[in-house]
Amino acid sequence: MKLAIVGAGWAGLAAAVEAVGAGHQVTVFEAARNAGGRARTVAGEPLLDNGQHILIGAYTETLRLMSSVGVRPENVLLRQPLSLRFADGGGLALPRWPAPLDLLAGVLAARGWSWGERLSLLRASLRWQRAGFRCAPQQTVAGLCADLAPRVAAELVEPLCVAALNTPAADASGQVFLRVLQDALFGVPRGGDLLLPRAELGALFPAPALQWLAARGAVLRLPWRVRAVTAQATGWQVDGEVFDRVLLACPPAEAARLAEGAAPAASAIWCARARALRFEAIATVYAQAPQGLAQPMLALRSGPAAPAQFVFDRGRLGGPAGLLAFVASASGTERAVVQAAVVAQARAQLGRPVRPLQTIIEKRATFACTPALQRPAARIAPGLLACGDYVEGPYPATLEGAVRSGVAAVAP
Ligand SMILES: Cc1cc2nc3c(=O)[nH]c(=O)nc-3n(C[C@H](O)[C@H](O)[C@H](O)COP(=O)(O)OP(=O)(O)OC[C@H]3O[C@@H](n4cnc5c(N)ncnc54)[C@H](O)[C@@H]3O)c2cc1C
Repeated sequence: MKLAIVGAGWAGLAAAVEAVGAGHQVTVFEAARNAGGRARTVAGEPLLDNGQHILIGAYTETLRLMSSVGVRPENVLLRQPLSLRFADGGGLALPRWPAPLDLLAGVLAARGWSWGERLSLLRASLRWQRAGFRCAPQQTVAGLCADLAPRVAAELVEPLCVAALNTPAADASGQVFLRVLQDALFGVPRGGDLLLPRAELGALFPAPALQWLAARGAVLRLPWRVRAVTAQATGWQVDGEVFDRVLLACPPAEAARLAEGAAPAASAIWCARARALRFEAIATVYAQAPQGLAQPMLALRSGPAAPAQFVFDRGRLGGPAGLLAFVASASGTERAVVQAAVVAQARAQLGRPVRPLQTIIEKRATFACTPALQRPAARIAPGLLACGDYVEGPYPATLEGAVRSGVAAVAP
């Protein structure tokens, strides 16, 4: 089969690697100079990522594909048990024990929580487990946690929810949140471990995937922004070149533009769903501190005037000493406002001055993962498919969601 893939983000690359592995003839079109999409490395000195990313142990497909293209995950990712410790020592950190003992021990040892608060979390966890990690589609994460002690909700659920779903708990889908918890805590051994990149994002998968594809005869057209896909009697044309099948691995608005031009009637519902998605921003403030942190990653107490939920010490992750990355998920989009607030937050919570180096705001970082959301399906029309983190599936907008969608789109 001659397959065109439009977009070389993690979804498009995953699809390309799988398709080449299955013996298809693959051409990848990518609008940017570099592959990686929203999870890419941005040129500059020092090399920075488009946004600080975290992976978790449950990202089994992402880890498998990294290995397929010759990357050893243990060389580029620092694995540590789940830790949401604050700079003042409060919060939860799990020991390196088998599940569910790690969770039990972590909760019992959580610093700054009363026994009542700890018990409220254990009770809620048992309830979720007994319900098979399912809830009504309309349920929000805040609703799911209504009887959780407020401190536990603020210090654990809210940061986990914005980290995983990039949507505030009050608006976030309880169903998707429970699915992530289930996979992380009970899916695979050490699924809840944090995997912190200690190389730039491009080196984790995009660049090695391109090399792997080129070495196996795939055609790589970068930079090439596809202008139009048109239907033929059999198959499709992509900017005039004929293919048996086309996979749109670009963001939803662009996929809808191309799908509408290619198959206006067949794609009507698909395009309406793609265009109805709402988005959340993520701001990453890179800043220089006089010295690094005691740990590679710390949770921060966030609120309207303190936008960052996490800070990463890039110096402990293979980068220059003292380079910090502050992540403000579901954030505002005014660069100067976010940056100034993060500087004040660093002084208040880390007790040190920081000098901003670069602030990257992705306005459409992820789709808003709200309850009962109808996401567009993978199939648009016969032989015209879509993949990407927004396509129908159990995961929120994550690398794993993108990769799984890419793999599924080329599965026989
Ligand atoms: C700041 C930030 C932080 C994040 N943090 C995390 C995290 O910690 N953990 C996590 O798992 N996920 C995180 N994510 C989400 C993750 O990055 C995305 O889910 C994932 O990268 C989406 O990949 P994708 O391939 O679906 O889409 P994209 O990355 O958007 O790829 C689409 C590609 O299509 C290309 N394209 C568009 N139009 C055309 C065209 N006409 N022709 C050719 N090419 C085209 C684009 O240039 C792009 O390369 C974060 C995202 C952001 C922005």
